[in-house]
Amino acid sequence: MYSNNSGEIQKLETLQLKGTGIPIEVRVIRRWTPYLRPNDRCYILLDVEGYAVQAVAHGQRDIRHVEKNLDLLSCYRINGYVCTAVDTYMNVMTHPIHLLIGTAAVMTKIPEPEGFPMHYFQPRVYADLRQIYDRKEGLIDYIGVMEKKEFVPTKTPHPMLQLTVANSSGRTISVSLWKEVNQFPERVNMEELNNIDGPALIAVSSVRIKDYRGRLQLHSTAATYLYVKPASPTISLLLDRIKEREDELENEHGEGTLVAVDISSKISIAELQQTEKDLLIGRAFTVEGSVTEIHSTTGWYYNACPKCPKAANESGPEWACASDGRFPAPRPAYRVQATIADNTGAMKVTFFDEGAESLVGKPCSELVIESGYTDQSIVPDPLQEIKGKPKAFHLEMQTNARPGRLNMTVSAVEEIDITLPLSIEAAPLTIDAAPALQLKPEETAPPQPRSSSIAPVTPVKIKFEPRAAEKDGPKRSLKTEKGPDESRPKRGK
Ligand SMILES: [Zn+2]
Repeated sequence: MYSNNSGEIQKLETLQLKGTGIPIEVRVIRRWTPYLRPNDRCYILLDVEGYAVQAVAHGQRDIRHVEKNLDLLSCYRINGYVCTAVDTYMNVMTHPIHLLIGTAAVMTKIPEPEGFPMHYFQPRVYADLRQIYDRKEGLIDYIGVMEKKEFVPTKTPHPMLQLTVANSSGRTISVSLWKEVNQFPERVNMEELNNIDGPALIAVSSVRIKDYRGRLQLHSTAATYLYVKPASPTISLLLDRIKEREDELENEHGEGTLVAVDISSKISIAELQQTEKDLLIGRAFTVEGSVTEIHSTTGWYYNACPKCPKAANESGPEWACASDGRFPAPRPAYRVQATIADNTGAMKVTFFDEGAESLVGKPCSELVIESGYTDQSIVPDPLQEIKGKPKAFHLEMQTNARPGRLNMTVSAVEEIDITLPLSIEAAPLTIDAAPALQLKPEETAPPQPRSSSIAPVTPVKIKFEPRAAEKDGPKRSLKTEKGPDESRPKRGK
């Protein structure tokens, strides 16, 4: 910490978990929405010493608050942030923590900022790229001379911008900028780029290294920015050393491996698993089946904010939520990973408070505080008893989904009166889009009488509802902020 005219300021370099939230002073240099995470908005914040940290606003209410108060490239004093563990899926930085900023944060613009850098790069050199790729070290920044630029058609209406970029010894690499970058003027200034005639110095942030038939390429991510500096005499010296070479690289595009099914008609767990994930985001549907297994590896409850479903983070001697500020103690809330099955297959889902409470019949706090089931890794008996009971599960695709995975949240559970197989022997499943299990109902279920007095087994009911228009209601904002990222469970202290 250091002092300036108006009090103590926290250096970004020394931010750590359980930090007490001393104000920071930063410039906002980048912002983006991570792929498949419409409920998260990320920012890179840079302090006067040139240290950078990634900040995250989670949930539409917090995003609106932050967007209203933070302008790209402006400088702010920020109070009321929360330090949390790095979310590896969204992370583009080397800093050991992330900041959560939300409605509890106070952002005051610094009218005449001095000394705050405009850019932040940790560029890697060409010779290191293979090793970085092999070790899966993640996203990199890269700087070089753009020799060539061209638009390449894709299967979408948005062409891909492909740059050929050389380093000082003439080694070239192709840099592919997809629509998530070239559709946003703040990420890449197309006008400026189009006006450049000839080579220019460029820098790209947060690109992913890919290996295409033995040649390395760089591809944009949701966090990529492109900065361009037109050619200068210095660059011309570099250019003299660049060998001509033909760009043989072909366009690589990893999409389209999954077949889209008609999601407005009958669907089963098996069909869900084969549906392209993008089509599921923001939609709700109903599957009838039963819980066959409860997984304890990530714990069955978490420490939540007393006022909202977000995870509580320790902040000095207290706890804090990015939306609701500080409080003395967290509230235990269900976050149960379970496998549900119907007669076509089985899938992993996550029950948060609403869904789990309607199954168990008791609030989580009653189990933890009154009944003393405080161990997050041991599934308590009242929770075990929900297995095998036929129910209608209302599911939503989690907004913290990862590509290729089906992360479903159970938003509500309803009674059903049809007779379903009570125990389907589901093999252990991964939540990756593996081939669906083919469980034949006649092997596990008693024959279904078809007399008129008993309702036949109805097709699985599907209810796809566009959700975008509902997001402003208070109930909706709770639902979209269903809970913390399940990939980094918060263990109780
Ligand atoms: Zn809260």
